[in-house]
Amino acid sequence: MSVATVLPPQENKTNDAPSNASKLNFNRITDEQFLLAAEHMGLEDEIQKLLITPYRELIVQVPVRMDDGKLELFHGFRVQHNAVRGPYKGGLRFHHHVDLAEVRSLAALMTWKTAIVDVPFGGAKGGVTCDPTSMSRKELQSLTRGFAQKIDMALGVYRDIVAPDVGTNAQVMAWFMDEYGKKHGYTPAIVTGKPVRLGGSLGREEATGRGVMIITLEACKAYGIDVKRASIAVQGFGNVGSWASRLLAQRGANIVAVSDVKGGIFKEGGLDIDAVLAHVKETGSVVDMPGTRPCGNEELLTLDVDVLIPAALGGSITRHNVENVSAKLIVEAANSPVTPRADEALRARNIPVIPDILANAGGVTVSYFEWVQNLQQFSWSHEKVNVELEERMLKAWWNVHTRSVEEKTPLRIAAFTEALHRVAEATRQRY
Ligand code: NAD
Repeated sequence: MSVATVLPPQENKTNDAPSNASKLNFNRITDEQFLLAAEHMGLEDEIQKLLITPYRELIVQVPVRMDDGKLELFHGFRVQHNAVRGPYKGGLRFHHHVDLAEVRSLAALMTWKTAIVDVPFGGAKGGVTCDPTSMSRKELQSLTRGFAQKIDMALGVYRDIVAPDVGTNAQVMAWFMDEYGKKHGYTPAIVTGKPVRLGGSLGREEATGRGVMIITLEACKAYGIDVKRASIAVQGFGNVGSWASRLLAQRGANIVAVSDVKGGIFKEGGLDIDAVLAHVKETGSVVDMPGTRPCGNEELLTLDVDVLIPAALGGSITRHNVENVSAKLIVEAANSPVTPRADEALRARNIPVIPDILANAGGVTVSYFEWVQNLQQFSWSHEKVNVELEERMLKAWWNVHTRSVEEKTPLRIAAFTEALHRVAEATRQRY
């Protein structure tokens, strides 16, 4: 089936805009990846239609009285994509690029991600179009509480569970849980990624980065890269990028470059990641780290390294810069960092890409552990969390890698196929 026969016509926008990621239609990108896998596995049309269509989409207004006394109106979204395998589950993004298409795309990715690591959740995502970096703590708290009130009717510990994403963190989850609790009573399981003292799980903060590390080690083995000699560049030094860098450096890898929204840094023999973290804590950015040279975000993507880990936002590697990418292996720590056209170009050059729905699934895996602990009113040790995470990530890697080899298909199609089989089977059993 061709892409055009399934997608609504208004979604036929460009898949590969030049340098501005906000112009990319991420929903279209995710749908295209879905359809390639659906075609590969011969998925019947009626199931394709069900699985490509979000179940429910909420668009809400969130008025906030700002510190200067003015009333500002924000737009919030919650997209519930699919819940045949369990309650909707997905993060909440605060960013000025957030729109319905992006949230839709991220919601669908969650459906495939939860299926790959085989946790009993579906997929959802939320977002508010705002710039959290320019808002005070009081304004962010009002925005979070206002948004929680507006989507409250669609949430529930067995219906839809929220988590942090770009621009949100454990504090935002604490406010969200507190607001939800005003109406429903004590309900820690309504959010994951909350502070440990409020019922958060040990190991959740680092979980996505730890999952990226586990998958990177396996991928290096599979593609003949010795991690102890490997050079790695990481775009985005937030939660995911900084933890992946730190944990890979602990395994002996040379993290030669890292970056954030303000710019990047490079050091030939490898950066001291703990020192970079201390510098970020002090200055708010990786830039101007003593003993390093500046390395802009575009240059970072073109460095001659063994492994490139995009861990910032979607759409960083497009057809416009893909020919300059020199890495031997790409691990998608961010969601949708490689566009479909860039993906094709990398495939033509035999550069393997470990897809987001596998590489960054560690976060939702430990979110599942957190939810289980909250429901049982019982907490696990940090070690137990890490052991269970590694087990699930390795199993997911081997399922996807084996399918890729046996079916002679790229890892992304193998990953989507693996996930689609699980979701499609549950769908057929329900209807
Ligand atoms: P974060 O907000 O903690 O960090 C994002 C980082 O990217 C920051 O260092 C920021 O400065 C940088 N950045 C932003 N715009 C940039 C740009 N244009 N160029 C270069 N760097 C830029 O977010 P995070 O939680 O680390 O998430 C990063 C990515 O990982 C996102 O795509 C997110 O959806 C994905 N992800 C996160 C989780 C999680 O558990 N946090 C789970 C799965 C996937």
